[in-house]
Amino acid sequence: MEKKGGIGVEIEHIFPVIKKWLYSDKEIFLREIVSNACDAVTKLRRLISLGEDAAREIPDEGFCVTVALDKEAKTITVTDNGIGMTEEEVEKYICQIALSGALDFIEKYEGENGADSGIIGHFGLGFYSAFMVSSSVDVLTRSFTGADPVKWTCTEDGAYEIHECSEDEAPARGTSIVMHMSEEGEEYLSESRLREILQKYCAFMPVAIYFEDGKEEKKDDKTPAPINDTSPLYLKNPSDCTEEEYKEFYKKVFHDFREPLFWIHLKADYPLNFRGILYFPRIQNEFESLEGQVKLYYNQVFVADNIKEVIPEYLLMLKGVLDCPELPLNVSRSYLQNSGYVSKISSHITKKVADKLSSMFNLDRPAFENIWRDLKTFVEYGCLRDSKFYDKTVSCLLFEKCSGGFCTLDEYLEGAKAIHENKVYYATDKVSQAGYISMFEAQGIETLLLDRIIDTQFAQLIENKRDGVQFLRVDAELADAMKGEGAAEIPGVAELFKKLVPEQTEIKFEALKDTSVPAVLNVSEDSRRMEDMMKMYTAMGQNAPTSFPTQATLILNTANPLIASLADADPEKAALIAKQIYSLCLLSQRRLQPEELRTFLSDSYSILGKL
Ligand code: ADP
Repeated sequence: MEKKGGIGVEIEHIFPVIKKWLYSDKEIFLREIVSNACDAVTKLRRLISLGEDAAREIPDEGFCVTVALDKEAKTITVTDNGIGMTEEEVEKYICQIALSGALDFIEKYEGENGADSGIIGHFGLGFYSAFMVSSSVDVLTRSFTGADPVKWTCTEDGAYEIHECSEDEAPARGTSIVMHMSEEGEEYLSESRLREILQKYCAFMPVAIYFEDGKEEKKDDKTPAPINDTSPLYLKNPSDCTEEEYKEFYKKVFHDFREPLFWIHLKADYPLNFRGILYFPRIQNEFESLEGQVKLYYNQVFVADNIKEVIPEYLLMLKGVLDCPELPLNVSRSYLQNSGYVSKISSHITKKVADKLSSMFNLDRPAFENIWRDLKTFVEYGCLRDSKFYDKTVSCLLFEKCSGGFCTLDEYLEGAKAIHENKVYYATDKVSQAGYISMFEAQGIETLLLDRIIDTQFAQLIENKRDGVQFLRVDAELADAMKGEGAAEIPGVAELFKKLVPEQTEIKFEALKDTSVPAVLNVSEDSRRMEDMMKMYTAMGQNAPTSFPTQATLILNTANPLIASLADADPEKAALIAKQIYSLCLLSQRRLQPEELRTFLSDSYSILGKL
């Protein structure tokens, strides 16, 4: 008996579209065909567990799926020993259901723009995705019921035939899908390419998958290892997993030789129903890429990496796996973005991450401080992105002190309350700002180190959140505690400096407790932040005004003998001293411009000559 057919009127429509349209993601055909094969095995297993008689027999080799490459014949064959299909079932499932599924899918998305369209990983195309890469496909199948085996063949123009299948052609039970690669599929006739795709999409599929690359001779005494892990760690109960297992899983999945800092095993039951493990990677320095990798799975089938629509953006700096069987994947990205389910997943994860951070902070503060430098960019970024995350983690946020050690914001404010309420003094560079830092430290004022760009953005966030709290860089102003009594303007001295400073720089007299410093240059916090921002924009290639007035104040220390003596000094000598003092002030505040440096050096040499 032989049957011929065409897959309906839509046929002229569907095949060319499948071939052309999903050009960039063709490799997913293997995921679709292998996951169908796994489903066929899972169905049979379920029947066995339900006590179905005809299905009792478990194959000697165990339930498995084999992917075989034959370069000469230009075929890729996926074979399973699962449930199989009868002739009626082939007609029903392959010719009708699978086809109408593919048609629905295409109708829904055809308008969208090919590769960028809404379907994540092109879920939903199913069996017919094989035609993206095949000129013809054979299905050889034998149902578990013992019905006669069937051979179905279909060419890329949609014409199909159903034949009876000879005994030795058909699998003992289950299905073989033979894909004859077309020109578009040539690139898949490669062991390494196929292995790579299998590892990417099928690493956690629930049935053992073997890859026969056509090279290895089968040795009877040695069973090859499956390419996948059928019960990945993330599906287990957290209480059954050991530290070693978590580390091993991390290294294997993310190919990172370094150990992760710590991890969070996610397990949400009904109605969210998802599983996963998030790892905090070690970040060696600021310049290392912070790009993480969160792999999304759907019932153990890989969908895609870093899906922003599902995972809060700041979590994408982490590494992890997330399996969300409830996720409606055959919908558009914008739908996902606005889906209530997805936002619940996000807030669940945010809460778990925040809980983990606070429990580490509370249980073992020294250990938490030890990893804080690795963590902080992530936590600060998270806080900047998500105010819920900020609210949940704020109490365990740490700051590094310039003098060493860490403190929370509250600890800092509490410690400083008596001397400078609500003011947080910080340095952005311990080396170049050493002069200022030591002036603060001399008066017992702690300074914090905010040495990454994100730190200062984060400080701004805290100012917005905490009423009254103000962050001031050490060169922004003098703390009241540094000032002594009895400052009075020394006649004639301000004039000496006015000639040197830019017009908008104010000159002030103070009697500082530290008498060794003749003068200090302060730059207003607001004006400096503005300047920093402009620099950042310019660095990012955006247009920004190149110069604008900086609000600076030059504080002359009347308690310093040099300043005190200027009024009575010989005018030429006084001018030279003033110039040198101002240059030294500039030098301790910022790098000198080439011209400033040249003058500073030549003045210094001539002073040396006068000694
Ligand atoms: P889906 O897998 O989403 O149902 P597909 O188009 O991939 O859609 O497949 C359609 C149907 O064809 C499946 O539901 C199944 O009944 C049948 N089928 C496909 N591959 C196999 C197989 N290897 N073994 C048994 N049945 C299969």
